[in-house]
Amino acid sequence: MHACGHDVHITSLIGTAHQMAARKDQWAGTLVLIAQPAEERIGGAKLMMDDGLYTRFPKPDYAMAFHISADTPTGQLSIGEGIASSSSDSVDIIVHGVGAHGASPHRGKDPIVMGAEIIMALQTIISREIAPLKPGVITVGSFHSGFKHNIISDKAVMQLTVRSDDEDTRAKLLEGIKRIATNVGRMNGLPEDKLPKVLVSHESTPANYNDAALTKRVKGVFAARFGEEVFDNKPREGMGAEDFAYLVEPNTDVPGVYFSVGGTPQADFDREKAGGAPVPSHHSPFFKIAPRESVTLGTEAMTAAALDLLSKND
Ligand SMILES: [Zn+2]
Ligand SMILES: [Zn+2]
Repeated sequence: MHACGHDVHITSLIGTAHQMAARKDQWAGTLVLIAQPAEERIGGAKLMMDDGLYTRFPKPDYAMAFHISADTPTGQLSIGEGIASSSSDSVDIIVHGVGAHGASPHRGKDPIVMGAEIIMALQTIISREIAPLKPGVITVGSFHSGFKHNIISDKAVMQLTVRSDDEDTRAKLLEGIKRIATNVGRMNGLPEDKLPKVLVSHESTPANYNDAALTKRVKGVFAARFGEEVFDNKPREGMGAEDFAYLVEPNTDVPGVYFSVGGTPQADFDREKAGGAPVPSHHSPFFKIAPRESVTLGTEAMTAAALDLLSKND
């Protein structure tokens, strides 16, 4: 299974459509519902924008979206001004070595050793080159090379995800990866035309910002509808990314707000705390959120916000 909860998102989208249609006398304006594909590979939003989302269809005054969160208890919403999610870039590093017999390493250039050197050297970009109070992540999620115990391979391929909260850091991380990979090649005596290649994929997104005024307004709506205790005020810990960024400021002139809806029953957190099985994360084969609570709160929150933003008095 894909296990990210996108079925909750689509069901809540349809639920919101139902709720808004049933209350047509309570609001005025145009509601655009976007069923965006490929959020996971962060490619869908950009493709929809390139395809004329804001020119072929009504361009909104505000944009809103949410993601279900396995890290947040059911019944809770997580919403804050400013940075809502990080930038993400997928990077491939291809190391071309020279194959040889494993017993005669001097006859080759070992791409596994060079790949390992690159991976270890990459760790210093975050720890030594980025200011300590600026967040960043470089994760090597895949490293493939070789066939057999006694053969030096001629190629190694690494796949990385790179995260940051601002464009300046993002550029520094990508530049650092390129510099380290190519110079590890030089260090190992590879000729200039055979240095490791660093490819940044089109599957990428800038950081996603919540507009301050819109966030305040929507937060006020949630507080009035569900009470202040609905907010889970835990600060961000990881550097998740969302391509919703392409739909909102500063990448368009549409103010946006992105929030999370709690998906895990409190009892599951209590069980983990008591030494029981941990709460499974998104994309874990054990991912399990409470469907009814998730869809209900997602739908109610979206409907309450939409009714306020489309209120007849505005
Ligand atoms: Zn996901
Ligand atoms: Zn997702």
